[in-house]
Amino acid sequence: MYTGRFAPTPSGPLHLGSLCTAIGSYLRARSMKGRWLLRIEDLDKQRCSREAADSILRTLELYGLEYDGSVIYQSRQIEQYKEVIRNLKNRDLAYECTCSRSRLKSIGGIYDGRCRNKAEAGKQRISVRFRNPGTVCCFDDILKGRIETSPAESGEDFILLRSDGTVAYNLAVTVDDETEGVTEIVRGADLIPVTTRQINLISSLGFRIPDYMHLPLILSGHDLKYSKQNHAKPVSDEDPAYMCALAMKCLGHMLPEDLNRAPPQEQIAWGIENFSTGRIPGNNQTVQY
Ligand SMILES: [Zn+2]
Repeated sequence: MYTGRFAPTPSGPLHLGSLCTAIGSYLRARSMKGRWLLRIEDLDKQRCSREAADSILRTLELYGLEYDGSVIYQSRQIEQYKEVIRNLKNRDLAYECTCSRSRLKSIGGIYDGRCRNKAEAGKQRISVRFRNPGTVCCFDDILKGRIETSPAESGEDFILLRSDGTVAYNLAVTVDDETEGVTEIVRGADLIPVTTRQINLISSLGFRIPDYMHLPLILSGHDLKYSKQNHAKPVSDEDPAYMCALAMKCLGHMLPEDLNRAPPQEQIAWGIENFSTGRIPGNNQTVQY
């Protein structure tokens, strides 16, 4: 059965970009008569809060985006992720890295595999990295067709467990999508660069590789991604009809005139009925609101 999901990070309320991702993945799942799951990716304790998670849940409810099953909170599954990391280490598919932050900075962003064969002894800060075979460096995106990433990016020995004990996003998301039986991942185009490295991890774990659909990013008039980092305006709960219609328009699904002020539930119902991947723009969308 088609299984999709929405997996926000609760570092603030939803903004237009994340609302578009929520609506896009919802319309896709429901138009496929599939399931739509909700996962709160709250592993980063510094950035995430329970209040933000609750606010996201309220907003989804207000827009009539009903998830199946119960909400998954990643922060409650840390032991499961650590178990997978232990298994990878036992199979020599992960290794300890003692490189300092300043060393990583000096090599310019992409890890060079220095600790692959032996980590420096006696170091306090130990992270765990994936021994990436780097076999996959392209994938087929449902909207964008074949996408290639550089071998350096797709084959990087990326971090699975940070030296402060935090489980890394790339590991957690891979485990969850497998455990929850997600068949297709619909998410923002900002995650295109990590897709091939994730597929390399999925393959090493013997998991099923899902299909991918990357939605256009929503940019402000100044060409900034609408995100919390850029202080994007949060989606206020005041005028959901307006915001819902705007999000649908960003996804290439312009509502008929008489539905523009209708309750979001009615707009969403129209969206499910009329959903087509062919309508979704390939390029990022610039919006003022
Ligand atoms: Zn290292």
